[in-house]
Amino acid sequence: MMYNLAIMGGGPAGYTAAECAAKAGWKVVLFEKESLGGTCLNVGCIPTKTLLYSAKQYVNAKNGAKYGISAENVSFDYLKIQQRKQKVVRKLVAGIKQKMKDVDVITGEAVVKSQTDKQVVIACGEAEYEAENLLICTGSTNFVPPIPGIENNENVWSSTDALAAKELPKSIAIVGGGVIGMEFATLYMELGVEVTVIEALPNILMTIDQDVVKQVKDKYEKAGIRFLINTRVKAIEGHQVRYQDGETNAEGMVEAEKILVCVGRRANLAGLEALTNLEFDRKGIKVNDFMQTNLPNVYAAGDVTGKIMLAHVASRQAEVAVGRMLRQIPLQRIAYNAIPSVVYTNPEIASVGLSEKEVQAFYMEMEGKSAEEVADKYEVHSLPMTFSGRFVAENEGEMGLCKMIVDAKNQTVLGVQMVGNPCSEFIAAASFAVRMGYTIAECKQVVFPHPTVSEILKEVL
Ligand code: NAD
Repeated sequence: MMYNLAIMGGGPAGYTAAECAAKAGWKVVLFEKESLGGTCLNVGCIPTKTLLYSAKQYVNAKNGAKYGISAENVSFDYLKIQQRKQKVVRKLVAGIKQKMKDVDVITGEAVVKSQTDKQVVIACGEAEYEAENLLICTGSTNFVPPIPGIENNENVWSSTDALAAKELPKSIAIVGGGVIGMEFATLYMELGVEVTVIEALPNILMTIDQDVVKQVKDKYEKAGIRFLINTRVKAIEGHQVRYQDGETNAEGMVEAEKILVCVGRRANLAGLEALTNLEFDRKGIKVNDFMQTNLPNVYAAGDVTGKIMLAHVASRQAEVAVGRMLRQIPLQRIAYNAIPSVVYTNPEIASVGLSEKEVQAFYMEMEGKSAEEVADKYEVHSLPMTFSGRFVAENEGEMGLCKMIVDAKNQTVLGVQMVGNPCSEFIAAASFAVRMGYTIAECKQVVFPHPTVSEILKEVL
């Protein structure tokens, strides 16, 4: 049978594309070598958030006194926490299977055999499949940096190993203070593990507004996390991580039961060797705004493009790719300027659009001027979250922060950065403003429900 579309990979990009194309009446075949749902559902977003929720419940129970609640002998059973995580994952994977009812899902590793402008042939196991179009959604895997002693060391964990572990270590050294590193630091800290974070750059979460990051870092330092920033890992030996301070060049060592390495992810490009003319860029498969590669009937979406490695970007890219294949008018593009992102620390960090630093850097480069000289190009509206009554009611002892960056000339919202629970739940409202190019005056006309923490987005205007 000739399929209209063959999809390699069943993560958020793959299953979203399959659902869209099947709904439009296309014959779709989807190949997945492990489990539907990909990294996000099986070994990423969902399992981490499930574990983090248990940790948060434990912390809340222990610290109930702040809210007039006393509970004695609060404890947790990590195995039960793990079992619940598996249950959540199974339930959601079953939901995806249900959505794939009109799609031929083939379990196995797919390899491209040949490609012409009219047809792609995919091999999976003994069988071959033909399709008019191919969408590559093979995702990414944990990057293993070339640090001596990292390979074949049972004490070294990837995020996947950490998620699968049935027991907590007593201590952990986390190499990489990025998103994955800080989410695991949150989990382990809250469950009483001794945590050291080793970050090569001058601070953790360097891609995020540093005023926002400071609140999390200060709180975590008080809670006992040791941060070694500006620090390069030189070698790992057994339980020991040997490092060098980037400023002083002094060498040091941290000893921990487990060493979690999370220093980024890399695109999965295996199985594409037959596409000899396929073009790549530094991060993955090169695509245009419609997720088209340089080969006319080959598209790519999700982490394999290396653009922004987030599940919600992957699924939107998949919608855009299928929209283009179906020649839907008006052609949609993905709005990279309005992608929300969340770091599930406690308190949460959420942001969308440009940060103060990015806007400043943009104008400095555009106009060849200093930071002071471009300061009148944008406004920074900033308020502690405590300006929201609901936040004060529910976040004893927390400050929080909401920063909105506004273009000085046309008064449009360029970006929003927040720290404070539960900002992940209403960053989407800020995404609307950024995506639609709303001005401050337009935002002021929006009615926010009271009392909600989301009202901070109105207060900050
Ligand atoms: P990352 O790029 O966010 O962070 C990696 C960190 O490791 C960086 O800060 C980097 O400076 C540091 N680093 C690199 N080499 C180092 C070394 N040798 N020693 C010490 N530090 C080193 O990558 P990640 O945290 O691995 O996450 C991977 C991807 O998954 C990212 O694209 C992330 O956005 C995505 N992700 C998103 C979420 C979310 O949205 N909540 C959650 C998890 C992962």
